[in-house]
Amino acid sequence: MTDQLTLEPTARVLDRASVRAFVDEHINPYADAYDRAGAVPEELLARIGEAGLWAPFLPPGLGGSGTDMVTFGEIHEEVGRGCSSVRSLLTVHGMLSWALQRWGSAEQLERWGPSLAAGRVLGAFCLTEPQAGSDTGAITTRAVPRGGGWVLDGAKKWITGGRRADLFLVFAQGPASTVALLVPRDTPGVGISPIDDILGTRASMLAEVTFSDVRLGPDALLGPAAGFAAGMVLTGTLDIGRYSVAAGSVGIVQACLEASAAYAARRSVGGTQLRDLPLIQAKLSEMVTDVRAARLLVADAGRLKDAGDSATIMSTWVAKYFASTAAARHAAEAVQIHGANGCGPEYPVARYYRDAKVMEIIEGSNEVQRTTIAAEAYRRWAP
Ligand SMILES: Cc1cc2nc3c(=O)[nH]c(=O)nc-3n(C[C@H](O)[C@H](O)[C@H](O)COP(=O)(O)OP(=O)(O)OC[C@H]3O[C@@H](n4cnc5c(N)ncnc54)[C@H](O)[C@@H]3O)c2cc1C
Repeated sequence: MTDQLTLEPTARVLDRASVRAFVDEHINPYADAYDRAGAVPEELLARIGEAGLWAPFLPPGLGGSGTDMVTFGEIHEEVGRGCSSVRSLLTVHGMLSWALQRWGSAEQLERWGPSLAAGRVLGAFCLTEPQAGSDTGAITTRAVPRGGGWVLDGAKKWITGGRRADLFLVFAQGPASTVALLVPRDTPGVGISPIDDILGTRASMLAEVTFSDVRLGPDALLGPAAGFAAGMVLTGTLDIGRYSVAAGSVGIVQACLEASAAYAARRSVGGTQLRDLPLIQAKLSEMVTDVRAARLLVADAGRLKDAGDSATIMSTWVAKYFASTAAARHAAEAVQIHGANGCGPEYPVARYYRDAKVMEIIEGSNEVQRTTIAAEAYRRWAP
């Protein structure tokens, strides 16, 4: 028994409590400063690596902790409670790492896995183009097979972490279907143009990433080059991103709740404490209720992922729709409870408000979510 246990490298134990403590010490006190600076400092990126948070689901053999998806969601909720920009960086890095784990060859896993787990290599996800966001089929970036490898040309926009990432997971039109390619940043022909002054997740170091006659070897291809399975790389990767954003949105609601309760307990108007006003209590009770509901929806999607149940895809859509709309609604109410202080730089709620709006747009906009959920209603109950 003991012999068997020593065969696997030792994994770090990550759980909600330890990640919350990490976030409260290393992220929460500085998140407003990151937001103002429009960047996350290198020191924090390194600390996240030391804490094992970049790709915790990777197996211990690749340097990860082998965490299940429920725990992954809890980690992203806790980071999202502290800073949505940092959580966004974890999201796209996690998407690339997860796709590598799911579809990577043994050589690709060996080359990139340990560096991604440690955060020595940071990953980004490149799908959106200036003319193609929700309509992913309209991407025009082309991957042409040549000499056993690929030649990549096109432009990607709104790439989270693009300014800093070392490795890009790029989706392009291949000869037969959409293909996924791993593109190191230092490949000749890769161009990076920072995007500044974004509404929310201002520290997530967005960039436009261009590819001009980028020559890649055969080992750049992640997953198959054609057919149903090639399409699954995109679907599966987006599902993980959506799950992370859902969890991060729960974190925003939790942060709004904590900030609002603390403020209402301190502030008085006309001789009455805010905490005793029924209209303020109504707002807080909605936050308490919605954060619990959203957390359960995310956990449900996570459990289905851990069970390998394909129903997780729809559960993740529902969780992300519910959690992101709850985040946007409650962040607005958190600003309202803070009055003018909610609009100023001394309290974090203005940041939550701006970040929450972004959650309704990324990884499937609200409208696309509702369209997809309604399609499920017809499929199941009015076929
Ligand atoms: C902060 C931030 C970070 C991002 N990070 C990344 C990243 O890392 N990688 C990446 O690839 N992309 C990223 N994106 C892009 C993001 O995924 C897209 O913005 C999103 O998919 C929406 O696409 P779009 O902006 O082109 O809007 P459009 O698709 O042009 O939609 C415009 C509006 O029309 C609505 N709409 C679209 N289709 C329908 C429909 N069928 N029915 C009704 N309404 C519809 C949309 O909901 C939206 O309100 C990021 C965006 C932001 C803002």
